[in-house]
Amino acid sequence: MVEIKLHNTKSRRKEILAPIDPKNVRMYVCGPTVYDRAHIGNARPVIVFDVLFRLLRHVYGPEHVTYVRNFTDVDDKINARAAESGRSIGEITAETTQWYLEDMAAVGALEPTEMPRATAYIPQMIAMIETLIEKGHAYAAEGHVLFSVESYAAYGRLSGRSVDDMIAGARVEVAPYKRNPMDFVLWKPSAPDLPGWESPWGRGRPGWHIECSAMSYELLGAEFDIHGGGNDLMFPHHENEIAQSCCAHPEGGFARIWMHNEMLQVEGRKMSKSLGNFFTVRDLLDQGVPGEVIRFVFLSTHYGKPMDWTEKKAREAEATLRKWRALTDGIAAGSPSPAALAALADDLNTAGAIAEMHRLAGAGDGAALKATGALLGLLSDEMGAWASVPEADLSAYADRLAAAREAAMASKDFSEVDRLKAALLAAGVEVRMSKAGVELLPGVGFDVAKLEGLE
Ligand SMILES: [Zn+2]
Repeated sequence: MVEIKLHNTKSRRKEILAPIDPKNVRMYVCGPTVYDRAHIGNARPVIVFDVLFRLLRHVYGPEHVTYVRNFTDVDDKINARAAESGRSIGEITAETTQWYLEDMAAVGALEPTEMPRATAYIPQMIAMIETLIEKGHAYAAEGHVLFSVESYAAYGRLSGRSVDDMIAGARVEVAPYKRNPMDFVLWKPSAPDLPGWESPWGRGRPGWHIECSAMSYELLGAEFDIHGGGNDLMFPHHENEIAQSCCAHPEGGFARIWMHNEMLQVEGRKMSKSLGNFFTVRDLLDQGVPGEVIRFVFLSTHYGKPMDWTEKKAREAEATLRKWRALTDGIAAGSPSPAALAALADDLNTAGAIAEMHRLAGAGDGAALKATGALLGLLSDEMGAWASVPEADLSAYADRLAAAREAAMASKDFSEVDRLKAALLAAGVEVRMSKAGVELLPGVGFDVAKLEGLE
């Protein structure tokens, strides 16, 4: 059997995965809060842990892996979205959940085994909170229930912080009902116009962290193999999950291996609304970037490193995938390359696996290329429709632009050159003009229909 090694955030080293039960390898990944379209950064953990899911299924058998990813469908952001849009919370969460599933399917992610919605597990959350109070790890005050961080000596161990560091570094909400400013909310009261459930502490709703602890316990038990998520969740969310789960169920150790993916940048800069480089998976798909291209670009960087999304990478990925698809078209998948499998088993070295795919393509081994692609969620028939649309032939436009430039050199009137260039740019074509000639590259968002009217 292939030995899988994964970097464990908790121990800060690579560890051999030794499943608690090889007949049921269990993984939990924190899912989205459903109030809006997923931005492309949200797709990174989905794609990373989808590759791990595929690898585990390959090694242990598809029937022997349980992957749980939740939907957070009760949250203040959802309440705010409902209030500002005048729509019901149920409508917003149902629509956004559907969008999420569609967008993640478009980037080739398999559906997890279980996709629990938080609101379906409120009794289990209440039960876990009651256990924490009984054991002296939580207290009720003014309709709230808070977890007492001082009651858990290992608090902060995952991210390697002391409670003092955390108080200094975090935006801690000071509240009169808190014994310690670091204590976090397990339950809070709900106003009559907000979602709420009856509880021993009055009508209210759960804090965010308790959801994952209650759902993972219900679906995976007190101890399971892998817990994943973006590294922005390490503190406080994952620290709080550990505190809740280990204190409520000390008979299990909660997650054995913790994995965190690094964040995503766009053209070398942090993604932010103010920089105008903030976009959703759907934005890219609507611009005509195939989901498979998005996936390929993501997997070309190791999950533990920051991933830079660039148009150049998307263009190169598209060219590579077109070549590989031509090579594997109509070919039955053979066996995946052992070298690619070894790369993936070494802490998900997806870049190494892609390098091996380049080698297979160079050697003309379509059968192995296709099987290896399947391990990475690439080159599947379902994802291939985009590649059957032939690449736009821009040579006629390049010739026209070159001729217009030559005429302009003589006449000194560059208006026609400018007009052609502007029309090409507007259609999403990158124009490169040099002494050597004119080169046109269809960029992200290229739309051939926009060129048809070019006279
Ligand atoms: Zn979580």
